[in-house]
Amino acid sequence: MICSVNPQLSHKLIDGRANAEEIKKGVRARVTRLTEQGWPMRLVSMEVGGTPATALYIRNQQRACEDVGIIFDNRLYPAETTELEMLAAIQALNVDPRVTGIILQRPLPDHIDLNRLQDAIHPAKDVEGMNSANIGDIVYGGSVLGPCTALASVHLLKSTGLKPEGLEVVVVGHSEIVGKPIALLLMEELATVTICHHGTRNLAVHTRRADALFVAVGRPGLITADMVQPGAAVIDIGINRVEVPGEKPGETRSKIVGDVDFDGVIEVAGWITPVPGGVGPVTVAMLLQNMVVTVERQKQVYEETMKGERAVPVASAPNPFSQLEQRP
Ligand code: NAP
Repeated sequence: MICSVNPQLSHKLIDGRANAEEIKKGVRARVTRLTEQGWPMRLVSMEVGGTPATALYIRNQQRACEDVGIIFDNRLYPAETTELEMLAAIQALNVDPRVTGIILQRPLPDHIDLNRLQDAIHPAKDVEGMNSANIGDIVYGGSVLGPCTALASVHLLKSTGLKPEGLEVVVVGHSEIVGKPIALLLMEELATVTICHHGTRNLAVHTRRADALFVAVGRPGLITADMVQPGAAVIDIGINRVEVPGEKPGETRSKIVGDVDFDGVIEVAGWITPVPGGVGPVTVAMLLQNMVVTVERQKQVYEETMKGERAVPVASAPNPFSQLEQRP
């Protein structure tokens, strides 16, 4: 079981872990094939400062990468590293042919502008899909590299068998990394999308219309049963640590919950993602999938650049990406 739930309602659960395993199975096969063809994958993780929470997140990414045959290389930079030094480190990774993907761990110290760093990562190595070029592709449609959590959320909706075309979709939260890309990805598939944020006057009026409701705010209990249309699919993206009563009187323990009042909403919804065990594991699986997509693209560019040349092992090959124009 992924969380304690009334067995009579368990058919409504969207199992993120099972979905993630399925994605990882396909990724593992593609990683093996590419490695055999001379394209081993190395993901470099860049962390500045470092917190226990980030360390846990990074360990999970490392385990997932190793599980499918991707080399994971975490680089921890001191908290006082300057933005310029980070930009230089990214440039070095951009032109290093042994590095096939780069991920920036959040949070970054206040003196570093996350967007500047994201834009410095070469779009072909941007496994988080957060470089403006990759995010921009979502607006044009047919994007190949999307932000992992948005891709995971859309994947989980489709895993229910619902088709986006014609669906009333409501997305609560409009961040660049989650809410906005979800809305754009589903609009591309002909869903009718409403985006809500803190300026929305009456949230429940919108959420009650939703056939599919995505919630990415960071507020436990924001969505209650009375705000959900009976039968709707509810994708809870929020991750919140809350204190709940412990075993003994007066004791408390911490627990991870989403933005949706799970126990109330599961009674009404047609499908619901649990937290934990919902969007989280699929987000990590999407990171692995993006890793494969980036390497397949790199291989294609390499082969086009080297057409007619004798093939050389990748580690000593001229890096095709150093020839490409860098974004300013
Ligand atoms: P964020 O950048 O803080 O964005 C939160 C969004 O919620 C903003 O668009 C904000 O609107 C909106 N909002 C705030 N109060 C609201 C309200 N009362 N009603 C409606 N909208 C409201 O956060 P994020 O990065 O998108 O993350 C959101 C949540 O998802 C967090 O809990 C985070 O931990 C979680 N998350 C989970 C995963 C995963 O893999 N499962 C990945 C990423 C994030 P304004 O900007 O207008 O205030």
